[in-house]
Amino acid sequence: MREFAQILVIGGGPAGSTAAGLLAREGFEVTVVEREKFPRYHIGESILPSSLPILNLLGAREKIEKHGFQVKRGVFFQWGPDEWSLSFNELGDTTAYAWQVVRSQFDEILLDHAAELGADVHQGVTVRKIEFDRGGRAVAAEWVDSTDSARSGRIAFDYVVDASGRGGVFANRYLKNRRYNDRFKNIAAWKYWKGTGQLAGNLEGATGVCSTPGGWFWVIPLHDGTVSVGYVSNRDRFNERRAELGGNDAVYDEAVEQCPGVKELLRGAEAISDIRLEQDYSYSAESFTGPGYVLSGDAAAFLDPLLSTGVHLATYSGMVAAASLSSVLRGELTEGESFGFYQRMYRRAYERMVLLVSAFYESYRGKDYHFYHAQGLSAREKDELSLHDTFLRIISGIEDMEDAKEAAYDLVVSDLTGKRGGDRNPFNHLQRMRDEPVAPEKAVDGLYLTFTPRLGLMRVTPTR
Ligand code: FAD
Repeated sequence: MREFAQILVIGGGPAGSTAAGLLAREGFEVTVVEREKFPRYHIGESILPSSLPILNLLGAREKIEKHGFQVKRGVFFQWGPDEWSLSFNELGDTTAYAWQVVRSQFDEILLDHAAELGADVHQGVTVRKIEFDRGGRAVAAEWVDSTDSARSGRIAFDYVVDASGRGGVFANRYLKNRRYNDRFKNIAAWKYWKGTGQLAGNLEGATGVCSTPGGWFWVIPLHDGTVSVGYVSNRDRFNERRAELGGNDAVYDEAVEQCPGVKELLRGAEAISDIRLEQDYSYSAESFTGPGYVLSGDAAAFLDPLLSTGVHLATYSGMVAAASLSSVLRGELTEGESFGFYQRMYRRAYERMVLLVSAFYESYRGKDYHFYHAQGLSAREKDELSLHDTFLRIISGIEDMEDAKEAAYDLVVSDLTGKRGGDRNPFNHLQRMRDEPVAPEKAVDGLYLTFTPRLGLMRVTPTR
């Protein structure tokens, strides 16, 4: 391991490998330390279409395509009184899709790709301490071999990206600024199944989301023929039911019985894993940046999995962090300007999803209510989009991508260009060559994300 890196990235999940890959591609000296040896298990299998432009930018799309993950065409809700399907290609692009991935494989592809782009990746290495200088600036990390504590060392850096996930090296150990969201004090309990049926009305490969009296289920079909079926419920309620019924499996089974769609899906199917549990998983750090550091992905904030937003927020924040750091390291912007942009963009994306998910928990009302709610969360002109389209744009991650880039120039590779075109198509909008100046009112603090000629942040040129 080197003793100095321009940028140290802690964690090789989607946030860390996106940030590391993009920074290495920009020519910076990047070291990644990942505690585990990949492939390692991780929950979070349902990916959003916003991953396509980010994978294009990384140059990793082809590898993901080739791997043969289950293609995901949309989302199917059985929520309260309503059932509705949302197909990603309803926005006018027949090429819009995402994947359901086995995370151990997906994450390994992305981390290996970051190494191919030039990042110096060390697996099985844990960061155990961060050093700050007298002014509170993060300047170095102490690391230890995850399985051999006799092997340890120190690495100094100019900047560090904390992408350590829920463990949150900075937020939990040093900043103590992680705040849990009372609205989502939930427990998730899930198993993998084989020999299942299909959810009635579901699109090919779509995620199923089905409410029950005490919570909701996710249904995620994977390319290896198994299906991930998870039950999410309020923590107190889950604990009460466990005390009464005598175990986690019994709570899960009771919920299956109460959910006709999932009950039918699992009729005759075989559970091929033990039950797994996660709890208390919605939080946000008060600040996502500080002197010498940025927090990316789950290390900064995490949201209940209802809309499958975790990997989107991780790769999105990894991309914006890479752009922000690139501009600082090239001397184009000050750290304050650049980190301010990062914080605003990531927080906006996160909070929009929080508001949308909250509305689902507050009511088991039907789809019109949630479409209407989504409209208030979009920056687009109200008459530009229908309620349905706005909801779809937000839950596909496209709204965030456009916010960051807003009328910026093109998004590098463009094999996604929609056949039908037209302004309703967010993918076209993302990839269209634009050479007009950015409208100042659309930039954030006078800055916007750009991909050409280099990844970075640009200042809006004032128009006369
Ligand atoms: P991670 O993927 O957690 O990566 C962090 C990495 O840092 C890990 O590999 C870890 O080993 C490493 N690390 C930690 N500490 C250290 C250290 N000290 N030194 C070195 N390395 C370290 N998201 C979706 O998109 N779709 C879903 O369907 C979905 N479902 C979910 C269901 C549940 C129940 C939960 C809890 C989450 C779900 N998520 C989902 C969220 C998703 O799992 C995360 O948001 C995503 O993995 C975040 O990526 P990340 O890179 O920030 O963190």
